Amino acid sequence: MSLAIRMRERGWTVDLVEIDPQWRVYGAGISITAPTYRACKRLGVVEELLASGFGSHKGVRICAPNGHVVAEIPAQPIEPGMPTGGGIMRPVLHDILSRRTRASGATVRLGVTLETYTETADGVRVTTTDGQTRDYTLLVAADGAFSAVRSLVFPTAAQPIYTGQYCWRLVADRPADIDGVHFYMAGSVTAGVMPTSATQMYMFLLIHEPHKIRIDEATQWQRLKQLMAPFSGLLGTLRDGLSDRSVIIVRPLEAILLPRPWHRGRVLLIGDAVHATTPHLASGAGIAIEDALVLSQELEREPDVERALVRFEERRWERCRLVVENSVRIGQMEQTHADPAALKTLMAVSEAALREDI
Ligand SMILES: Cc1cc2nc3c(=O)[nH]c(=O)nc-3n(C[C@H](O)[C@H](O)[C@H](O)COP(=O)(O)OP(=O)(O)OC[C@H]3O[C@@H](n4cnc5c(N)ncnc54)[C@H](O)[C@@H]3O)c2cc1C
Repeated sequence: MSLAIRMRERGWTVDLVEIDPQWRVYGAGISITAPTYRACKRLGVVEELLASGFGSHKGVRICAPNGHVVAEIPAQPIEPGMPTGGGIMRPVLHDILSRRTRASGATVRLGVTLETYTETADGVRVTTTDGQTRDYTLLVAADGAFSAVRSLVFPTAAQPIYTGQYCWRLVADRPADIDGVHFYMAGSVTAGVMPTSATQMYMFLLIHEPHKIRIDEATQWQRLKQLMAPFSGLLGTLRDGLSDRSVIIVRPLEAILLPRPWHRGRVLLIGDAVHATTPHLASGAGIAIEDALVLSQELEREPDVERALVRFEERRWERCRLVVENSVRIGQMEQTHADPAALKTLMAVSEAALREDI
């Protein structure tokens, strides 16, 4: 969607095909870092994000299991007046981007996917599952961590790897004093809360599971209740309020960093399709939006499309590698109970690198 918006601004004709006929996204919250706000500002959606989400100007608060704040790590905005971090509900973010995509003049075809493609002399001929065949300058696949296009273009590429943790998320009402991110540590459990609007927040909880497991949706609230046993204070109250009506989303954490090239001829992969990360730096969606900004710049700057794709990958590789590798490393450190000071240092180094301009 970010790329469609950007390329329409540059006068390109854009067809967006989306496999889900309803174009839905699941109902969890998502954290927006300062660099992600910067990317959203450049995309022209930051005002809407702030109006419908929650931009925080606070630092990161570290809390005991009973909720008492034991430390506050100050945070600086990247640009004056911009939030230091924040959150939004995923369906709200999706709504902002999808309305912008349609308003941009991009043609959106839902319930449709790629069937085949062939290279032509100066582009790519694409057949989609709605029976249409069209010629394009470029085919960009942003079809997520389990990208079908990746399997088509790079059939021997590895699949995402399970990193040993599950992420539980719970949507809840926001108490007035939750005006920024709070982390809570209790033994091997890391949890946190992030505001997503004036009235809502989401809780995330990371737990080690040696293998992928099946979690029954009907009883998952009872499992979450057990996992939250070490907490009192705010998290204890959230736990005590859990029921079969609670909005809970649970996912195994999986990551992939596709080695370069990310393109073959005129077919390019971006976003999670090439760099799906665990959420430890809360940067997966941010770097996906940045991909769109950088790709549109390079396509404008460089008339030779294939050279533009190479330049795009050169600009994106180190930053995306850092996000995926350091996020996975932080998750490993949590699982092995590494020295908290070493963990804090790796987070600080990673966050400082991500503040660098793209
Ligand atoms: C537990 C968890 C928590 C996270 N928390 C954060 C966070 O706090 N902050 C953050 O920045 N990031 C976070 N992320 C990462 C973030 O969700 C992803 O990096 C981001 O969604 C990637 O965007 P994308 O557009 O590349 O892929 P996706 O969001 O996966 O979108 C892919 C789209 O392509 C469609 N599609 C799939 N297959 C096809 C096909 N064959 N044909 C056509 N369409 C197709 C899908 O329906 C979907 O609409 C988190 C990830 C996880 C797993």
